Amino acid sequence: MSPESLDIDRLETKSVIELPRLIDLKLHAIENIAEDSKKLLMGDVAVVIVDDITYKLAGKRTEQVLTDGGIETHVLSIKKATMDEVNRAIDLYKDVKADFSVGVGGGTVIDVSKYSSFLQNMLFASVPTAASHDGISSARASIKGEGRSHSYGARPPMLVIGDVETISKAPPRFAISGAGDLLSNKTAVLDWELSERITGEHVSDYASLLSNATADAIIKRRIGIASDAITRTYTVFKGLVSSSMAMCIAGTSRPSSGGEHLISHKLDTLLEKPAMHGEQVGIAAIFSMYLHRGNWRELAETLKIIGAPTTAEQIGADADIMVEAILNAQALRPNRYTILSSRLTEKAVRKGLETTGIV
Ligand SMILES: [Zn+2]
Repeated sequence: MSPESLDIDRLETKSVIELPRLIDLKLHAIENIAEDSKKLLMGDVAVVIVDDITYKLAGKRTEQVLTDGGIETHVLSIKKATMDEVNRAIDLYKDVKADFSVGVGGGTVIDVSKYSSFLQNMLFASVPTAASHDGISSARASIKGEGRSHSYGARPPMLVIGDVETISKAPPRFAISGAGDLLSNKTAVLDWELSERITGEHVSDYASLLSNATADAIIKRRIGIASDAITRTYTVFKGLVSSSMAMCIAGTSRPSSGGEHLISHKLDTLLEKPAMHGEQVGIAAIFSMYLHRGNWRELAETLKIIGAPTTAEQIGADADIMVEAILNAQALRPNRYTILSSRLTEKAVRKGLETTGIV
Protein backbone atom coordinates (compact mmCIF):
# COMPACT_ATOMS: atom_id res chain seq x y z
CA MET A 1 0.00 0.00 0.00
CA SER A 2 1.37 3.40 -0.89
CA PRO A 3 1.73 5.82 2.02
CA GLU A 4 -0.73 8.11 0.24
CA SER A 5 -3.48 5.47 0.16
CA LEU A 6 -6.21 5.07 2.72
CA ASP A 7 -6.08 2.11 5.04
CA ILE A 8 -9.35 0.31 4.27
CA ASP A 9 -9.28 -1.70 7.51
CA ARG A 10 -9.12 1.53 9.42
CA LEU A 11 -12.12 2.90 7.57
CA GLU A 12 -14.06 -0.24 8.50
CA THR A 13 -13.36 -0.01 12.19
CA LYS A 14 -12.22 3.41 13.35
CA SER A 15 -13.89 6.11 11.32
CA VAL A 16 -16.51 7.38 13.79
CA ILE A 17 -16.34 11.00 14.91
CA GLU A 18 -18.49 12.09 17.83
CA LEU A 19 -18.44 15.78 18.73
CA PRO A 20 -20.19 18.07 21.22
CA ARG A 21 -23.46 19.27 19.70
CA LEU A 22 -23.92 22.76 21.16
CA ILE A 23 -21.40 25.04 22.81
CA ASP A 24 -22.99 28.01 24.54
CA LEU A 25 -20.19 30.46 25.24
CA LYS A 26 -21.65 33.68 26.61
CA LEU A 27 -21.22 35.97 29.56
CA HIS A 28 -24.20 34.35 31.35
CA ALA A 29 -24.62 31.06 29.49
CA ILE A 30 -26.00 29.21 32.53
CA GLU A 31 -29.20 31.20 32.14
CA ASN A 32 -29.78 29.29 28.86
CA ILE A 33 -29.23 25.75 30.07
CA ALA A 34 -32.91 24.76 30.21
CA GLU A 35 -33.59 26.22 26.78
CA ASP A 36 -30.45 24.67 25.30
CA SER A 37 -31.19 21.22 26.70
CA LYS A 38 -34.73 21.39 25.33
CA LYS A 39 -33.41 22.43 21.92
CA LEU A 40 -31.29 19.30 21.98
CA LEU A 41 -34.19 17.09 23.16
CA MET A 42 -32.16 15.95 26.14
CA GLY A 43 -35.23 15.02 28.20
CA ASP A 44 -37.27 16.07 31.24
CA VAL A 45 -35.30 14.68 34.18
CA ALA A 46 -31.80 15.89 35.01
CA VAL A 47 -29.23 14.98 37.65
CA VAL A 48 -26.84 17.84 38.40
CA ILE A 49 -23.52 16.63 39.79
CA VAL A 50 -21.53 19.11 41.90
CA ASP A 51 -19.13 19.30 44.81
CA ASP A 52 -19.61 21.54 47.83
CA ILE A 53 -17.75 24.46 46.27
CA THR A 54 -19.09 24.27 42.72
CA TYR A 55 -22.64 23.99 44.03
CA LYS A 56 -22.29 27.51 45.42
CA LEU A 57 -20.40 28.82 42.37
CA ALA A 58 -22.78 27.61 39.66
CA GLY A 59 -24.60 24.43 40.67
CA LYS A 60 -27.36 26.15 42.58
CA ARG A 61 -28.06 28.50 39.69
CA THR A 62 -28.00 25.61 37.21
CA GLU A 63 -30.52 23.70 39.38
CA GLN A 64 -32.74 26.79 39.55
CA VAL A 65 -32.69 27.51 35.82
CA LEU A 66 -33.45 23.87 34.95
CA THR A 67 -36.29 23.70 37.49
CA ASP A 68 -37.77 27.01 36.28
CA GLY A 69 -37.60 25.60 32.76
CA GLY A 70 -39.87 22.72 33.80
CA ILE A 71 -37.12 20.09 34.05
CA GLU A 72 -37.28 17.79 37.08
CA THR A 73 -33.86 18.32 38.65
CA HIS A 74 -31.96 16.31 41.28
CA VAL A 75 -28.60 17.26 42.76
CA LEU A 76 -25.80 14.90 43.74
CA SER A 77 -22.76 16.23 45.60
CA ILE A 78 -19.56 14.20 45.23
CA LYS A 79 -16.06 14.45 46.70
CA LYS A 80 -13.69 12.56 44.40
CA ALA A 81 -13.47 11.16 40.89
CA THR A 82 -13.64 7.50 41.97
CA MET A 83 -15.56 4.46 40.78
CA ASP A 84 -17.60 4.60 44.03
CA GLU A 85 -18.84 8.07 43.15
CA VAL A 86 -19.53 6.95 39.56
CA ASN A 87 -21.68 4.13 40.97
CA ARG A 88 -23.48 6.51 43.35
CA ALA A 89 -24.38 8.68 40.36
CA ILE A 90 -25.63 5.65 38.40
CA ASP A 91 -27.81 4.57 41.36
CA LEU A 92 -29.42 8.01 41.43
CA TYR A 93 -29.96 8.03 37.64
CA LYS A 94 -31.84 4.73 37.98
CA ASP A 95 -33.81 5.87 41.05
CA VAL A 96 -35.15 9.04 39.45
CA LYS A 97 -35.21 7.71 35.87
CA ALA A 98 -32.90 10.50 34.73
CA ASP A 99 -32.64 11.47 31.08
CA PHE A 100 -29.39 13.40 31.30
CA SER A 101 -26.53 14.26 33.59
CA VAL A 102 -25.10 17.74 34.13
CA GLY A 103 -21.58 18.09 35.55
CA VAL A 104 -21.01 21.48 37.18
CA GLY A 105 -17.41 21.96 38.29
CA GLY A 106 -13.79 21.25 37.49
CA GLY A 107 -12.16 18.00 36.43
CA THR A 108 -13.48 15.78 39.21
CA VAL A 109 -17.17 16.53 38.84
CA ILE A 110 -17.12 16.63 35.05
CA ASP A 111 -15.28 13.31 34.86
CA VAL A 112 -17.80 11.58 37.16
CA SER A 113 -20.76 13.04 35.27
CA LYS A 114 -19.20 12.17 31.90
CA TYR A 115 -18.24 8.61 32.75
CA SER A 116 -21.36 7.64 34.73
CA SER A 117 -23.69 8.98 32.03
CA PHE A 118 -21.67 7.14 29.39
CA LEU A 119 -22.02 3.84 31.28
CA GLN A 120 -25.79 4.43 31.52
CA ASN A 121 -26.04 5.42 27.86
CA MET A 122 -27.38 8.85 28.85
CA LEU A 123 -26.69 12.31 27.50
CA PHE A 124 -24.36 14.64 29.35
CA ALA A 125 -23.97 18.42 29.68
CA SER A 126 -20.72 19.98 30.83
CA VAL A 127 -20.81 23.19 32.88
CA PRO A 128 -17.19 23.95 33.76
CA THR A 129 -16.44 26.43 36.54
CA ALA A 130 -12.82 26.82 35.40
CA ALA A 131 -10.95 26.68 32.10
CA SER A 132 -8.02 24.69 33.39
CA HIS A 133 -7.73 21.62 31.09
CA ASP A 134 -9.21 20.15 27.93
CA GLY A 135 -11.31 17.52 29.75
CA ILE A 136 -14.22 19.98 29.85
CA SER A 137 -15.47 18.86 26.45
CA SER A 138 -13.41 15.79 25.60
CA ALA A 139 -14.60 12.20 25.28
CA ARG A 140 -12.25 10.91 27.99
CA ALA A 141 -12.75 10.70 31.73
CA SER A 142 -10.05 10.34 34.34
CA ILE A 143 -11.25 8.18 37.25
CA LYS A 144 -9.14 7.06 40.19
CA GLY A 145 -8.67 3.34 40.67
CA GLU A 146 -6.34 1.83 43.21
CA GLY A 147 -3.56 4.37 43.62
CA ARG A 148 -3.50 6.17 40.31
CA SER A 149 -5.96 7.64 37.85
CA HIS A 150 -7.04 5.85 34.71
CA SER A 151 -8.27 7.53 31.59
CA TYR A 152 -11.47 5.91 30.31
CA GLY A 153 -13.09 6.31 26.94
CA ALA A 154 -16.53 7.95 27.19
CA ARG A 155 -18.59 10.28 25.03
CA PRO A 156 -18.12 14.04 24.59
CA PRO A 157 -20.80 16.27 26.13
CA MET A 158 -23.93 16.93 24.09
CA LEU A 159 -24.00 20.47 25.51
CA VAL A 160 -21.15 22.63 26.82
CA ILE A 161 -22.08 25.70 28.85
CA GLY A 162 -19.26 28.24 28.92
CA ASP A 163 -20.52 30.84 31.36
CA VAL A 164 -17.75 33.36 30.87
CA GLU A 165 -18.58 35.39 33.95
CA THR A 166 -18.58 32.39 36.30
CA ILE A 167 -15.40 30.97 34.81
CA SER A 168 -13.62 34.34 34.87
CA LYS A 169 -14.11 34.49 38.64
CA ALA A 170 -11.92 31.43 39.16
CA PRO A 171 -8.35 32.25 40.26
CA PRO A 172 -6.25 33.30 37.19
CA ARG A 173 -4.03 30.28 37.81
CA PHE A 174 -6.77 27.99 36.44
CA ALA A 175 -7.08 29.52 32.95
CA ILE A 176 -3.31 30.06 32.83
CA SER A 177 -2.93 26.35 33.47
CA GLY A 178 -5.48 25.70 30.72
CA ALA A 179 -3.33 27.76 28.36
CA GLY A 180 -0.31 25.63 29.35
CA ASP A 181 -2.28 22.50 28.49
CA LEU A 182 -3.05 24.01 25.07
CA LEU A 183 0.55 25.02 24.36
CA SER A 184 1.59 21.41 24.92
CA ASN A 185 -0.46 20.46 21.84
CA LYS A 186 2.58 21.50 19.82
CA THR A 187 4.83 18.82 21.28
CA ALA A 188 2.01 16.25 21.37
CA VAL A 189 1.57 16.68 17.61
CA LEU A 190 5.33 16.43 17.01
CA ASP A 191 5.37 13.17 19.02
CA TRP A 192 2.44 11.82 17.03
CA GLU A 193 4.17 12.64 13.73
CA LEU A 194 7.38 11.09 15.02
CA SER A 195 5.44 7.94 15.85
CA GLU A 196 4.00 7.91 12.34
CA ARG A 197 7.53 7.88 10.94
CA ILE A 198 8.93 5.35 13.42
CA THR A 199 6.01 2.98 14.09
CA GLY A 200 3.65 3.66 11.18
CA GLU A 201 0.92 4.90 13.54
CA HIS A 202 -1.94 6.63 11.72
CA VAL A 203 -1.99 10.41 12.12
CA SER A 204 -5.18 12.35 11.42
CA ASP A 205 -4.12 15.42 9.43
CA TYR A 206 -7.23 17.38 10.38
CA ALA A 207 -6.85 16.63 14.07
CA SER A 208 -3.16 17.52 14.15
CA LEU A 209 -3.69 20.76 12.20
CA LEU A 210 -6.52 21.84 14.51
CA SER A 211 -4.60 20.94 17.63
CA ASN A 212 -1.51 22.83 16.49
CA ALA A 213 -3.57 25.86 15.46
CA THR A 214 -5.13 25.96 18.92
CA ALA A 215 -1.69 26.31 20.48
CA ASP A 216 -0.77 28.95 17.90
CA ALA A 217 -3.86 30.96 18.87
CA ILE A 218 -2.66 31.00 22.49
CA ILE A 219 0.76 32.25 21.38
CA LYS A 220 -0.88 34.92 19.20
CA ARG A 221 -3.19 36.11 22.00
CA ARG A 222 -0.73 35.83 24.87
CA ILE A 223 -0.77 39.53 25.73
CA GLY A 224 -4.58 39.53 25.92
CA ILE A 225 -4.51 36.37 28.02
CA ALA A 226 -2.12 38.07 30.42
CA SER A 227 -4.08 41.28 30.63
CA ASP A 228 -7.65 40.62 31.75
CA ALA A 229 -9.88 37.87 33.10
CA ILE A 230 -12.66 38.00 30.50
CA THR A 231 -10.28 37.85 27.51
CA ARG A 232 -8.30 35.09 29.22
CA THR A 233 -11.41 33.04 29.95
CA TYR A 234 -12.94 33.43 26.51
CA THR A 235 -9.70 32.71 24.61
CA VAL A 236 -8.61 29.76 26.71
CA PHE A 237 -12.10 28.27 26.87
CA LYS A 238 -12.48 28.36 23.09
CA GLY A 239 -9.04 26.82 22.77
CA LEU A 240 -9.90 24.00 25.15
CA VAL A 241 -13.08 23.23 23.23
CA SER A 242 -11.18 23.24 19.90
CA SER A 243 -8.49 21.06 21.37
CA SER A 244 -10.99 18.48 22.57
CA MET A 245 -12.63 18.58 19.12
CA ALA A 246 -9.24 17.59 17.70
CA MET A 247 -9.21 14.60 20.06
CA CYS A 248 -12.76 13.69 19.03
CA ILE A 249 -11.78 13.84 15.35
CA ALA A 250 -8.72 11.72 15.97
CA GLY A 251 -10.57 9.25 18.20
CA THR A 252 -7.57 9.36 20.55
CA SER A 253 -5.94 11.85 22.91
CA ARG A 254 -2.84 11.81 20.65
CA PRO A 255 -3.25 15.38 19.25
CA SER A 256 -3.15 16.84 22.76
CA SER A 257 -1.13 14.37 24.78
CA GLY A 258 2.42 13.25 24.09
CA GLY A 259 5.60 12.76 26.07
CA GLU A 260 5.07 16.04 27.94
CA HIS A 261 1.85 14.60 29.43
CA LEU A 262 3.69 11.43 30.47
CA ILE A 263 6.28 13.60 32.28
CA SER A 264 3.47 15.42 34.06
CA HIS A 265 1.78 12.12 35.05
CA LYS A 266 5.12 10.93 36.44
CA LEU A 267 5.53 14.21 38.34
CA ASP A 268 2.11 13.56 39.89
CA THR A 269 3.55 10.45 41.50
CA LEU A 270 6.85 12.05 42.54
CA LEU A 271 5.75 15.39 43.95
CA GLU A 272 4.27 15.53 47.39
CA LYS A 273 1.96 18.29 46.25
CA PRO A 274 1.70 18.24 42.44
CA ALA A 275 1.12 21.54 40.67
CA MET A 276 -1.81 22.00 38.28
CA HIS A 277 -1.96 19.73 35.23
CA GLY A 278 -1.40 22.55 32.72
CA GLU A 279 1.44 24.05 34.75
CA GLN A 280 3.32 20.75 34.71
CA VAL A 281 2.67 19.94 31.06
CA GLY A 282 3.69 23.49 30.07
CA ILE A 283 7.15 23.04 31.59
CA ALA A 284 7.42 19.49 30.24
CA ALA A 285 6.50 20.83 26.78
CA ILE A 286 9.48 23.23 26.88
CA PHE A 287 11.75 20.25 27.48
CA SER A 288 10.09 18.06 24.87
CA MET A 289 10.31 20.87 22.31
CA TYR A 290 14.03 21.13 23.10
CA LEU A 291 14.43 17.40 22.36
CA HIS A 292 12.50 17.86 19.10
CA ARG A 293 14.90 20.74 18.22
CA GLY A 294 11.87 22.97 17.89
CA ASN A 295 11.22 26.52 19.06
CA TRP A 296 11.21 25.87 22.82
CA ARG A 297 12.07 29.52 23.46
CA GLU A 298 8.72 30.59 22.04
CA LEU A 299 6.91 28.21 24.38
CA ALA A 300 8.91 29.36 27.41
CA GLU A 301 8.42 33.01 26.52
CA THR A 302 4.65 32.56 26.08
CA LEU A 303 4.33 30.74 29.41
CA LYS A 304 6.28 33.56 31.07
CA ILE A 305 4.15 36.28 29.51
CA ILE A 306 0.87 34.68 30.60
CA GLY A 307 2.23 34.13 34.11
CA ALA A 308 2.67 30.34 34.01
CA PRO A 309 5.65 28.65 35.69
CA THR A 310 8.68 27.82 33.53
CA THR A 311 11.05 26.40 36.14
CA ALA A 312 11.10 23.23 38.25
CA GLU A 313 11.33 25.30 41.39
CA GLN A 314 8.06 27.08 40.65
CA ILE A 315 6.19 23.76 40.69
CA GLY A 316 7.93 22.47 43.81
CA ALA A 317 10.36 20.19 41.96
CA ASP A 318 14.16 20.16 41.70
CA ALA A 319 16.68 18.90 39.14
CA ASP A 320 16.69 15.33 40.51
CA ILE A 321 12.91 15.02 40.47
CA MET A 322 12.75 16.41 36.92
CA VAL A 323 15.43 13.97 35.74
CA GLU A 324 13.62 11.05 37.37
CA ALA A 325 10.29 12.12 35.88
CA ILE A 326 11.72 12.52 32.38
CA LEU A 327 13.71 9.27 32.39
CA ASN A 328 10.81 7.17 33.73
CA ALA A 329 7.82 8.86 32.09
CA GLN A 330 7.66 6.66 29.00
CA ALA A 331 7.35 3.51 31.13
CA LEU A 332 3.89 4.72 32.17
CA ARG A 333 2.70 4.14 28.64
CA PRO A 334 5.27 2.17 26.62
CA ASN A 335 2.96 1.76 23.62
CA ARG A 336 2.53 5.47 23.03
CA TYR A 337 5.66 6.30 21.03
CA THR A 338 7.07 9.75 21.88
CA ILE A 339 10.38 11.58 21.76
CA LEU A 340 11.02 10.05 25.21
CA SER A 341 11.00 6.57 23.66
CA SER A 342 14.47 7.27 22.25
CA ARG A 343 17.28 6.38 24.63
CA LEU A 344 17.88 9.42 26.78
CA THR A 345 20.83 9.55 29.11
CA GLU A 346 20.80 11.28 32.48
CA LYS A 347 23.63 13.51 31.30
CA ALA A 348 21.67 14.67 28.26
CA VAL A 349 18.54 15.30 30.32
CA ARG A 350 20.45 17.41 32.86
CA LYS A 351 22.04 19.41 30.05
CA GLY A 352 18.64 19.98 28.42
CA LEU A 353 17.07 21.11 31.68
CA GLU A 354 19.87 23.62 32.18
CA THR A 355 19.86 24.86 28.58
CA THR A 356 16.12 25.53 28.71
CA GLY A 357 16.36 27.24 32.10
CA ILE A 358 14.00 24.72 33.72
CA VAL A 359 16.63 24.12 36.43
ZN1 LIG B 1 -3.73 17.86 29.24
